[in-house]
Amino acid sequence: MAATGNPGKLKEFREILEPQGFRVIDPKIAGWNPEVDEDQPTLEGNALKKARAAVEATGRIALADDTGLFVDHLDGAPGIHSARYAGPAQDMVQNCAKLLRALEGVPENQRTAQFRSVIVWADPQGGQTVFEGVCRGSITFEYRGEGGFGYDPVFLVEGTGQTFAEMSSQEKNAVSHRGKALQALARFIVKTGKEKA
Ligand code: IMP
Repeated sequence: MAATGNPGKLKEFREILEPQGFRVIDPKIAGWNPEVDEDQPTLEGNALKKARAAVEATGRIALADDTGLFVDHLDGAPGIHSARYAGPAQDMVQNCAKLLRALEGVPENQRTAQFRSVIVWADPQGGQTVFEGVCRGSITFEYRGEGGFGYDPVFLVEGTGQTFAEMSSQEKNAVSHRGKALQALARFIVKTGKEKA
C-alpha cells in the first residue's frame, strides 16, 4: 500500500511499479488517512514514520516516500522543509514563487540543485528497508511546462534541457529521484523474493 496522500506520488508509484507486477493500493481504499506529522529531522526519519504508521493502521506492507529539493546557493534549502517552504498551506504555486524570488539575480551556473527521495518499504513483521534516489539539475528563471506536480516546472534536469514539467511521465520516471529509488526497491524485492506490497 502506498503511504501517501499525494496524487502525484501515487501516480508515479503506479507507473513505475505496476509494469513490474506490483499492485499499488491507494491508502483511501485501505481506509487509512495518510496525514502524518512530518516532524523528523531527515527524509529517512519522515519516510520511516509514514511507513510504520501505515503498516500499524492497516496491517499491510507499506511504501512511503519523503522527498526534498536541495538548492546549493540556498545552503540546501528548502530541503526537508520543501512542502512547507512558503508556509503551512503547502501551496505549490507559492512554494515555487518563493524559490524563484530567493534566486532572483543569481546566475545560471549558481542555480544548481538536487532532488532527493527516500523510499521505505515496511512490513507488518517489523521488517523495513530504505532506498534512495538523487536527481541533479538546476532551478529555472521562470515556470516551464505543464506536466508533473510540485516543483516540477522550476526544476531543469541536468543534461536534458527540460524541466520535469516539460517531460512525459515516462521520461521523468526514467531519470527522477523517485524513479531511481523505486527501481532499486523493485530489484530488491525480486532478488530477495520478498512479498510484494
Ligand atoms: P514530501 O515528500 O511530500 O514532504 O514532499 C516535499 C515537497 O516536494 C512537496 O512540496 C512536494 O510537492 C515536492 N515534491 C516531491 N516530489 C516531487 C517531484 O518529483 N517533483 C516536484 N516536486 C516534488
